[in-house]
Amino acid sequence: MRYSNLFGKTSKSIQADADSANAKLLTQAGFVNKQMAGVYNYLPLGLRVLTKIQNIIRAEMNAVGGNEILMPTMTQESSYVQTGRDKMDVLFHLKGRDDSELVLNPTHEEVVTPLAQKYTFSYRDLPVSVYQIQNKFRNEPRAKSGLLRGREFNMKDMYSFHVSHEDLDNYYEQVKQAYFKIYTKLGIGDITVLTYASGGVFSKYSHEFQTFAEVGEDTIYFCGKCKVAVNKEIIDDQKGACPECGTSELEERQAIEVGNIFKLADKFSKPFDFEYADSNGKNQLVQMGCYGIGPSRLMGTLVEIFHDEKGIIWPKEVAPYAVHLVSLGADENIKTEAEKLYNQLVEKGVEVLWDDRDASAGAKLADADLIGIPTRLVVSKKTLAEESVELKERNKSEAEMVKMSELLSRI
Ligand code: ATP
Ligand code: MG
Repeated sequence: MRYSNLFGKTSKSIQADADSANAKLLTQAGFVNKQMAGVYNYLPLGLRVLTKIQNIIRAEMNAVGGNEILMPTMTQESSYVQTGRDKMDVLFHLKGRDDSELVLNPTHEEVVTPLAQKYTFSYRDLPVSVYQIQNKFRNEPRAKSGLLRGREFNMKDMYSFHVSHEDLDNYYEQVKQAYFKIYTKLGIGDITVLTYASGGVFSKYSHEFQTFAEVGEDTIYFCGKCKVAVNKEIIDDQKGACPECGTSELEERQAIEVGNIFKLADKFSKPFDFEYADSNGKNQLVQMGCYGIGPSRLMGTLVEIFHDEKGIIWPKEVAPYAVHLVSLGADENIKTEAEKLYNQLVEKGVEVLWDDRDASAGAKLADADLIGIPTRLVVSKKTLAEESVELKERNKSEAEMVKMSELLSRI
């Protein structure tokens, strides 16, 4: 991609929420643009990052047998009346024709349960799990911290259906492991902890995945020995002790909830009368699990964790481009050499953003730091004199000269 052709440029003067690093940096670097409180446009760079995060999640959901589907954004309110969730204060309501009552789904249990019911008759149809990656709508009392708490935000939500608690328990453990793989791939595996949170009627706990961060809204109590935490909301029920080893030597930390898995059991199958015939032909309620993760909140989280005073420092796996090529100087020869290199890299399948503008060296290098692509390559009069390119990793301070002839094998 040539920077001159990119929609959504960097801007230090553009208005951004000042309450978080992710809102400020993602806006100034041209990844997102705020529509209104808690609602964002994703510009090309931002969409590339979001898509990469989604694809990492997608691969792990496919690996545990999840079937990807796409459910609707809006749904008749009557489905929510059936489960009693029509009174949820975060529901957005709208009116259809004939004054029919509709809602924008804040999550999809009311859609997926009757949907799965249509395709499930006997124990032979179970277990099964479906997931989607879609925008959710919640009229949050306070939208804040950029992408961390939105009113329209992206979610991957998976739902699994089982014949028994045991089968649900088994699958739940598999998904838990899949979640850790996701956070590890995103580069936050070592600062994201399994956190015990309040459960439902059938399970004592649900589990959150919490990433340590000062900006996080959640307070958790971390057990350094077991590497798990307890959410403040249930720490009193827990009598201040680690649920795994019982110690009360827990460390209070601020964290961002980046995922949540829950054993719903029959909470939703009951109101919809979702039953299957067991091997004796007897009807039983289907046991459900749900598994949420927020790609857009994760994007904000990554910026909170990986930035410095100059800008974002993207982990390789989700960076919008692998290489930020910068040509410095008005000399036609420099541009020609940079273009040659750009074409070679693209041909090799490397994702390159080429800053081909006639802007000052200072402006271009500052923009490269702000955007945060992992590898920066500079082509200038000085580097060409040595038939070289200057290579610098965004997360390192020193740069090195690499011979043009050796560059392709290096990248
Ligand atoms: P929270 O406690 O932060 O309000 P939640 O427990 O209501 O979130 P879930 O319904 O479990 O969240 O949603 C699954 C995932 O979706 C969360 O773990 C989080 O990553 C993401 N998420 C939830 N609410 C928001 C939001 N308002 N903005 C962005 N992401 C969100
Ligand atoms: Mg929560």
